[in-house]
Amino acid sequence: MLQTARTASPAAPPPWGTLAEVVRPFPAPRPPEPILLAPPTPTGAELAAIEASLATGWLAPAGPVPAAFEAALAETTGLPDVLATTSCTAALHLGYRVLGLTPGDEVWTAGLTFIATIAPAVQMGAVPRFLDVTPDSWTLDPDLLRRELARAARRGRLPRVVVPVDLFGQCADLDAILEACGRWGVPVLCDSAAALGASLRGRHAGQGALLAAFSFNGNKIITTGGGGALCTAEPRLLAAARHLATQAKEPAAHYQHETTGFAYGLSSVLAAIGLAQLPSLSARVATKRGLFARYAAALADLPGCTPMPEPAWGRSNRWLSVILLDPARGAPDREQARRALAAEGIEARTVWKPLPLQPVFRDAPRAGGAVAARLFDHGLCLPSGCGLTEPQQARVIAILRGLWRG
Ligand SMILES: *Cc1c(COP(=O)(O)O)cnc(C)c1O
Repeated sequence: MLQTARTASPAAPPPWGTLAEVVRPFPAPRPPEPILLAPPTPTGAELAAIEASLATGWLAPAGPVPAAFEAALAETTGLPDVLATTSCTAALHLGYRVLGLTPGDEVWTAGLTFIATIAPAVQMGAVPRFLDVTPDSWTLDPDLLRRELARAARRGRLPRVVVPVDLFGQCADLDAILEACGRWGVPVLCDSAAALGASLRGRHAGQGALLAAFSFNGNKIITTGGGGALCTAEPRLLAAARHLATQAKEPAAHYQHETTGFAYGLSSVLAAIGLAQLPSLSARVATKRGLFARYAAALADLPGCTPMPEPAWGRSNRWLSVILLDPARGAPDREQARRALAAEGIEARTVWKPLPLQPVFRDAPRAGGAVAARLFDHGLCLPSGCGLTEPQQARVIAILRGLWRG
């Protein structure tokens, strides 16, 4: 006969184990399914698109399929000249090259961004300068930019390029930034990595910048399973970028090079995935905006909890739903919230750690930074995948709400 845990001597458990160890509830309780931050969402059309791409006979990062993807992106973004690349980081690298960045040049960007915004420029020997963001958009502060440009002009050391970032799918105030930079003839390269489908005063993200770069990484709103694009309305810049992306081969029967380039073209197979995904962009934006609205409504009454603001001039694609948790106003600490979700298999992440706070940039020049630092301290990115179901979102919300009950 089995002994129960109550009758077994704790010093000498029976060889067959306690009742609790031997008799398992049936069916076994399954751990709740993990919920990821922003997993890719296939449309179901990808395999057929890949087969069609193979049927063209092109397996190279060239040919009709990348060209069709580029044409579709031109249509989507309203930027007529498009180069599909292996990543957004590669597109930004090409952007820095065609703008003629040289060692010692300054590149200015928002402190609150992912390192890929600036990494290629730093690798080219440029000096990054990090400017703060505004609390109402979380993107590059145009007034600060205007003041810093005037000071830099007095020093005789203007940046080679200014790089606003469309944060989490929310456009920077590109018009104000273009006006500030235009005064000094400084070109603007927009990191619109996460902003496909977002808009600014009725125009698609990136429109108006000299160059804009987009990402099709697996976590972005549209994915190719790794990819990017450089977009412009300047055909000569695009031609130069395309030349560099394909090993800078001169038009000659033999291999002839006047500079060194890259292998940065997007493969036909991956472009086919992008072509299959792109028609669902506006539906995805609607889905993500719906997720954000549900989070915002369900958490609205909680003290110290505020959703990422959306300025009147922009329409975010809400790539990620982000909230601020301010302990001084009665909210739980952001790390406490993140860990509580993680304990339930739910992936939430901090807002980007500002680049001026990164060890690698400890000596980089900067202007301001208090706003970005506060957003990092309090900001939490919540699960935002297009496939997030209502019950899943309800679980996330219930765990968060539970934190206020202690
Ligand atoms: C995703 C992202 C990138 C990098 O895109 P890749 O395609 O992975 O190179 C760059 N900047 C920002 C702001 C991003 O969100």
